Amino acid sequence: MSGVTATRPAAGPGASTAAGAGADPGRRIAAAALSATKVYGVGGDTAVRALDDVTVEFPEGRFTAVMGPSGSGKSTLLHCLAGLDSLTSGRVLVGGVDLGSLSDKQLTLLRRDRIGFVFQSFNLVPTLTAAENITLPLSLAGRRPDPAWLDEIVATVALADRLGHRPSELSGGQQQRVAVARALVSRPQIILADEPTGNVDSRAGAEILGFLRRAVSELGQTVVMVTHDPVAAGYADAALFLADGRLVDRLEGPTAATVLDRLKALGG
Ligand code: ADP
Ligand code: MG
Repeated sequence: MSGVTATRPAAGPGASTAAGAGADPGRRIAAAALSATKVYGVGGDTAVRALDDVTVEFPEGRFTAVMGPSGSGKSTLLHCLAGLDSLTSGRVLVGGVDLGSLSDKQLTLLRRDRIGFVFQSFNLVPTLTAAENITLPLSLAGRRPDPAWLDEIVATVALADRLGHRPSELSGGQQQRVAVARALVSRPQIILADEPTGNVDSRAGAEILGFLRRAVSELGQTVVMVTHDPVAAGYADAALFLADGRLVDRLEGPTAATVLDRLKALGG
């Protein structure tokens, strides 16, 4: 009771002292892509321009949905923001750091410390318990979890009674909640989620989306989520629309209905 309360930066500021990306009225930029272009199969007949001159900023403490048809470049954008893939031209900044300026080692460390990634397919370690999976990024970094923060995450994700279970003993929705908790545990600059509800039923999907929403509203995290589901995009603060690798539209305060209208307009 009388223990020292761990201090945590409230809605974002404090985590990084790197120079912010340009002038921002009030909100700092967690990550940005500047004229980002990605061409697969450069030089061959089969060259694909997966990203075509995309410039976009992701402000801290906001939940952004990235939408667009299959093959429009959503995953490519997310992978390039995460440093899992590199651009053909243009730049990606995370917390003001240009990923292209980093050595492989520096990039690995930045990914570990500043980026939380949630895959559609959970990617949990099957031999570890839920609790061990959640704290794995910290264990690998030789760091101890902050108990107060860990409690808050576990409570928010409603997994307290499942912490001793292995992934095979959890439902798909529970496994994805473990994956989201794992992405949050190191308090990353940004959480990138690629179709996080793509492999779970709609009820579990609603739980995961509610959790991502609370991570932003209550824990001050920054989330970028790829989805093709208008209902999922309705949880976000803004929705971006990609088509053929280009950023073609954006919607503030999206609802399932307004997103659906916009998708119809773009589709035809
Ligand atoms: P989305 O996530 O919106 O469905 P992707 O970003 O996965 O789209 O893919 C965008 C385009 O880039 C598609 O035409 C896809 O076939 C192509 N692409 C993606 N990854 C590769 C790759 N590793 N090699 C070649 N082409 C790729
Ligand atoms: Mg994809």
